[in-house]
Amino acid sequence: MINPGRLDRGYEKYASEYEEKALEVLRSGWYVLGKEVEAFEKEFASYIGSRYSAGVANGLDALSLAFRALGIGEGDEVIVQANTYIASVMGITMNGATPVFVEPDEYFGIDPKEVEAAVTERTKAVLAVHLYGLSCDMEKITGICKKHGLKLVEDCAQSHGSKFNGQMTGTFADIGCFSFYPSKNLGCFGDGGAVVTDNEEYLKKIKMLRNYGSAKRYYNDEVGVNSRLDELQAGLLRVKLGHLDELNEERDRIAKAYLEGIKNPAVTLPRIREGCNHTWHQFVIRCGTRDELMEYLKKKEIGTIIHYPVPPHLQKAYGCLNKKKGDFPISEAMADEVLSLPMYNGMTGEEIKTVIDAINSFKGA
Ligand SMILES: *Cc1c(COP(=O)(O)O)cnc(C)c1O
Repeated sequence: MINPGRLDRGYEKYASEYEEKALEVLRSGWYVLGKEVEAFEKEFASYIGSRYSAGVANGLDALSLAFRALGIGEGDEVIVQANTYIASVMGITMNGATPVFVEPDEYFGIDPKEVEAAVTERTKAVLAVHLYGLSCDMEKITGICKKHGLKLVEDCAQSHGSKFNGQMTGTFADIGCFSFYPSKNLGCFGDGGAVVTDNEEYLKKIKMLRNYGSAKRYYNDEVGVNSRLDELQAGLLRVKLGHLDELNEERDRIAKAYLEGIKNPAVTLPRIREGCNHTWHQFVIRCGTRDELMEYLKKKEIGTIIHYPVPPHLQKAYGCLNKKKGDFPISEAMADEVLSLPMYNGMTGEEIKTVIDAINSFKGA
């Protein structure tokens, strides 16, 4: 069985480096908020091209703390694309703010025309999600935010190393939010996350909030949370960050093989926005008979995943928003048609060929 997102091969690539670092941290006697986190924050900010970075416990916390630091809460609206992972939306609603859904463009990114049309007096921010590893149209999005005086947050949980017109995702916004969940392009070995920003006030606020609202030990200015990146994850992330470009190049080679090899009229291949590099967090095809294709591949021992079968506005968790099927037809059609093909570091040429041949032999219904 080809497991669509196996992680052991990626670990094996640099196993001795990870193991050496893990032992170093274990033997150091210091496990939370120490020199590994500080060093990682510096190195990550420098890689992204931001002035500052702060490690947090996961990507959801990065988002919720970002909106909190921006002062967004009850009564405020945040515009977000309807075709995203539910964590993007939870980052908004955890602060009491209201998500205003809009449709994506053909590249799965938030559609600037839709954003412009959704702005009201209550709109405080836009959340751009660089879904699957491809940047949203940041030129248009930043323009709209400037014009209407809106804050901008980027959900970069799937876009470590993705650029728009040569500029790294995460640097367009007031605050960029990253997840280091194991399956992400820069994944750690447990949970982890970070924010990046050029604004010192936002940085200070998030560093204070992540540690019980305390900037000075045992003096608490606000009711914060416990959301810290630990030393072990930070150390392992430093090792992986040093290889992130190679890891992304490997994903790009797999994607190129798919793009050249897959020739089946029943399947629509992903397209790359002009001026962007795709980091292929997921290689997502569309197929009108997706469920049949998924079943067909499964019979051929090829695992695939749907990212995501139910859009947030149709989830039970968001019944309170009173949305119904048909409200966001483009996002809903994506949920019915998308399929993520196997994509992982260490994928062999033979495995890639097996996937390509299987898809090419599928007869659409
Ligand atoms: C993974 C992910 C998150 C959440 O990250 P966690 O670390 O799992 O909390 C948020 N947004 C998107 C788009 C994601 O893919």
